Formats: sequence, C-alpha cells, structure tokens
Amino acid sequence: MTTTTFSSLPLATEILTAIQSLNYQKMTPIQAHSLPALLKGRDMLAQAKTGSGKTAAFAINILHQLDVSSSQTQALVLCPTRELADQVSKEIRLLARAIANTRILTLCGGTPIGPQLTSLKHRPHIAVGTPGRILKHIQKDSLKLDGLKVLVLDEADRMLDMGFHDEIIRIISKTPRKRQTLLFSATYPDEIKDISDAIQSDPVDIRIEGLHDNNKIKQVFYEIQKGERTRALVALLQHYHPESSIVFCNRKQQCKELADELWQLGFHTLALHGDLEQKERDQVLVQFANKSSSVLIATDVAARGLHIKDIQAVINFELSPDPEVHIHRIGRTGRAGNEGLALSLFMASERFRVEAIEEYQDSPARIEKASALKTRENFRLSPPMVTLCINGGRKNKLRAGDILGALTANTNLPGKQIGKIDLFDNLTYIAVERPVAKQALRILSEGKIKGRKYRVRKMR
Ligand code: ADP
Ligand code: MG
Repeated sequence: MTTTTFSSLPLATEILTAIQSLNYQKMTPIQAHSLPALLKGRDMLAQAKTGSGKTAAFAINILHQLDVSSSQTQALVLCPTRELADQVSKEIRLLARAIANTRILTLCGGTPIGPQLTSLKHRPHIAVGTPGRILKHIQKDSLKLDGLKVLVLDEADRMLDMGFHDEIIRIISKTPRKRQTLLFSATYPDEIKDISDAIQSDPVDIRIEGLHDNNKIKQVFYEIQKGERTRALVALLQHYHPESSIVFCNRKQQCKELADELWQLGFHTLALHGDLEQKERDQVLVQFANKSSSVLIATDVAARGLHIKDIQAVINFELSPDPEVHIHRIGRTGRAGNEGLALSLFMASERFRVEAIEEYQDSPARIEKASALKTRENFRLSPPMVTLCINGGRKNKLRAGDILGALTANTNLPGKQIGKIDLFDNLTYIAVERPVAKQALRILSEGKIKGRKYRVRKMR
C-alpha cells in the first residue's frame, strides 16, 4: 500500500509547513506515486488527468532539490501557455513561502521583453515560462542554465500539439547533461514516448487512470427538440441553480451568440473563445474565478488547461463529436472530493454521440426529459461578487495588502466582504460582495492607495 501522508516524505520542515498551510491533508494518487522517486532524483514520465495535483508533485520536488544559497537557476518549468505558467508559478510560490529568499520568475511571450531582462539581472532560482520566450532569453544569454538541476515539461502533450517540439529540443541542448528531467502529460500519444526517449534517462513511468473514476460526477443527458436548446439551457440553470458553471459550445460563433442571449435573459454570462485578446481573456477568467460571473460560455480550445476551482456544473450546450473531449470537459467539475454535475443537451439526431460516450466511458448514460425540469418564472442567477478594476498593478508596486488596507482602514467595510484580489502588471481586479460594491467603489475612487490616486471602475 502507498502511504499518502506528506510527512512520510523526507521533506524539509519549511516545505511541510507550506503544504499544511495550503490545507493539503494527504497526497493525491499521482503525488503519492511520484514523489518518493522524484525526491530520489529520478527522471519521470507521468500521466494523470487534469486536476489531479501534478503541479504540486513537481513543485515540491523542485523545492526539495533547491539550494537557495546558490544564485544559479536550478529549475526550469516549460508550460504551453502564459496562464498555465502563471498558475504554476503561483503554486510554487505558495509552497516556497516558508523558504526565505526563493526567487521565482515567470517568462512568457506576449509581453514586452525589456522588463524581463531587468528582472533577470538577479538570477531566479526557478524559471517558469513558455518555450518560445525561454529560448529567446537563452539566446540573448539573459537566462543561464549551466546550473540547472531540474527540468519540467508540464502539459507536454499540449506543447507538442502546439508545435513547440523544436524549441524544447533547443532549450534542452543548453542544459547540463546531468539533470533531472520530468515529463507531465494528460495523454500519452506516440510523440510523448519519442521525446521521452530523446531527453530522459531511465525514467520512472507512472500512469494514473482517471477515466473510469466518474462516480464523483453526476452525469445526466437531456433529450431536446429542435429549436429548444437555449430554453433547455435556461431550464437547467433554473432547475439546478449552480453557483458557477461552464457551458461548452463547439464553435466560437455560437459561444458569442449564446453569451449575448443569456445576458439579455438576465444571467451574468461571459464568453471565452479564441477571438479574445490576452487582456480580455484575463478579465473573463478573473471575473469567473472570483465569482462575479455565474456562467462561463466556452469553446474547447479556449478552455484547455484552465484550472478553476469550485465549478458546480459543466453543461454541454452541444455534445462534442469526440468522446475524449467530452470526458475532458466534464472532468472540470467534481474536483477535490466535491460531487460534480455534468449536464448535456442532445437532439435525437445526435444520439450517436451519446452512444459514443457510453462506449468510451463504458457505462450507460442516464437520459432524462428536459420537460421534467422544474423551472421558476423570473428566476435569475445573481453572482455573489462584483469586480472592481484599478488602473494600477504590480508595476506600481501594489500588493493585495495595500488594497485591502485602503478598503478597510478607517472605514466600516469588513475585510471579510472583500474577495480575491488579482494583480497584473498594470491592472488590479478586486472582488467585493455585491451589497458593498458601491461603497467599496467610492472608498477606492475618493481615497488613495499607498499615497497615490487611482482610477477605479466597476466591471459589468
Ligand atoms: P493538474 O494535475 O491538472 O496539473 P493541479 O496541479 O493544477 O492539477 O491541481 C488541481 C488542484 O488540486 C489545485 O487547485 C491544487 O491546489 C489542488 N491540490 C493539489 N494537491 C492537493 C492535495 N494533496 N490535496 C488537496 N488539494 C490539492
Ligand atoms: Mg497541470
């Protein structure tokens, strides 16, 4: 039997304390299976589904191998997108917070290189980034990898899908031969095996099967008639009233139209699709994750790799033609032990898609009639929070504490009514409980933060 307590691992107290303060009670299966070999320095090829805790597995290992008294860059994590890189950095920071002076830097494309060059003047202990930008820094000699101990390819399958193969190989050619190389992937196509052969030495191969573990997700399919789709979706939202849900569409045009339609029906809805600029995408994700929007309407491509906690329901407005994509979609609900809800709409002409899913998941689908859903006239989902946006961020040296201070010091606004504060380079988003939104807006617009005035607006 595998032990699942973190304290059974030979970790420094600083790391164990951080794990405890994150309230991780026990290791997830991938952590329990990978960490003992990782901490011994073995290379690893690990596959486990999204949401299974892969980040903490390699992050804990990186911190274990790290020598903060050295100024060399000792760990590099390559991620397919900026968002994933941000999430990974965030998790490493949380786990490193009890270790003094750990320098972690995120280096991604799509942002100017100048500030990154400045930051790199102090070498980071850990660099996290996208392959293109990391390679650029290596070529400019702003990132030096001669002291690298651990190299992680996170979501390797996706990086390969995105065409990063050559960049990855060129980056690796600049790292020491003696290093620990870790490959994390949600799927296991041939390309993964090939790159593993090329860059790893005698890797431990770990696969955690997650596909049949769908008892934590209540999955129901609703058969609808032609022309009933939007009405059936509204009925699902009224019947189940999930506090937050992701609605999947197969095409971005439909995603946009549906978002507008639901907005007009009084639901706070945001659309996530490939036409958004990075800044708009950040805004959508912030508002959804901080609970100021109840329904996120997304395409599969735009939603890949997203990690948002507490999604009560995944709704398939249309079934994906690919059963594997379907399983990925519904895997976003029911995380961390909560029961999830996966609801799908289909017309008789799409029944073959339901059958493909039944076959893929090897269990019969529960099919119900949309007409049996209990709906209430005039029912609206109102998100509990509202997002305020300030025209200043990390570059202005703002911290979450400064903003919380400005909102609550010398005011009667209780801190517990303030939610997530998300800092970006030049912008900050603050979630506040809906009933105090006006008051918070006034306090921030009239007052100063760290002695300076900022423009503040309430986001729709
Ligand atoms: P993935 O396997 O897709 O990379 P993540 O590493 O992003 O998944 O983990 C998903 C979520 O699980 C994160 O919110 C993370 O904080 C949480 N998590 C990770 N390890 C544990 C643990 N041992 N106990 C509880 N929650 C955990
Ligand atoms: Mg991950």
